[in-house]
Amino acid sequence: KNLLADRPLTFMVKKNQEPRSVEERDAILANPGFGVNFTDHMVDICWSEMGGWHRPRVQPYGPIQLDPAASVLHYAQEIFEGLKAFRHQDGSIWSFRPEANGARLQRSARRMALPELPVPAFIDSLKQLIAVDGDWVPSAPETSLYLRPFMFAKEAFLGVRAAKKVNYYVIASPAGAYFTGGVAPVSIWISTNFTRAGKGGTGAAKTGGNYASSLIAQQEAAEQGCAQVLFLDAEEGKYIEELGGMNVVLVKKDGTLITPQSESILEGITRDSVLQLAEDRGHTVERRRVTLEEWREGVESGEITEMFACGTAAVITPIAMLKGDGVEFGSADAPAGELTMSLREELTDIQYGRRDDKHGWMMRL
Ligand code: PMP
Repeated sequence: KNLLADRPLTFMVKKNQEPRSVEERDAILANPGFGVNFTDHMVDICWSEMGGWHRPRVQPYGPIQLDPAASVLHYAQEIFEGLKAFRHQDGSIWSFRPEANGARLQRSARRMALPELPVPAFIDSLKQLIAVDGDWVPSAPETSLYLRPFMFAKEAFLGVRAAKKVNYYVIASPAGAYFTGGVAPVSIWISTNFTRAGKGGTGAAKTGGNYASSLIAQQEAAEQGCAQVLFLDAEEGKYIEELGGMNVVLVKKDGTLITPQSESILEGITRDSVLQLAEDRGHTVERRRVTLEEWREGVESGEITEMFACGTAAVITPIAMLKGDGVEFGSADAPAGELTMSLREELTDIQYGRRDDKHGWMMRL
């Protein structure tokens, strides 16, 4: 299907003639927030059924022209990724396991009947953007440049089928801390009115529809004073799956880490890395189905001593308590767990180049 997919891509660079001034950029970098400001350029690569991937370019950041019949607007054939560029002490810029994001984008593409971007082209697209917008990578502690690759059906056609015209983009946004409360433990709302993904569905793909369907549950969470929503499995409503945008890990008294195994959750790269670091330290890791009941009983009996959420944006966030319809456990003022915070420190030390990268996870952009 993808005739020219293996042909190496040569990027054309069209510089932004009206980039933000150094003063404007510095003001944004001093107070970046999350996902609200964008750099001066973006990557754009076209794909068509006949021509494969072509016309790779870096161009000024700006609106994308779409035909109103573009099928993404009607049938949501779209996928995305999220990863960060970190500035190290010596000024160099690095990303964390970008091949894993490239591979996941390919898995998402397969599920959503989109073309697979070769991983080397994915990596190259990040390097190309950093080559022109590297000055947008902040250097203050806990800050980074969030990279958002995405791909969608651009073909103007109202029939329901996979599009024959697709575009891939990368945009970038300077990022501070994800939660406004820093790494303070958060409360989680257990959604029982809504589920996120079912058997055979798209839960394991990073596709916009999963997030659209989570918004109403996230609104409920906010009304309940909770920072995130926990989804249970769609069939029995019994097993824990994941949060709206993060995976979940529980820690037992004996140091065992437990995380849900399910075909309908997104396989987080942060979770995989944190669990690897825990295994390196000699901890046992269990990837298996976990019921909400096991979680509640474990917290109430003291068998579960720590719980945290993890994902690229927030890294690791301790969970203080959970509440839902007729259940509540943990306590709102529970301190962050010791292992939780020590794994968080180890991972961020690797990402910011303060510690030996023993697994070869960092890639210079
Ligand atoms: N689950 C969901 C639904 C997510 O959106 C994310 C963020 N990408 C994660 C888990 C964590 O994945 P990662 O660690 O790769 O960011």
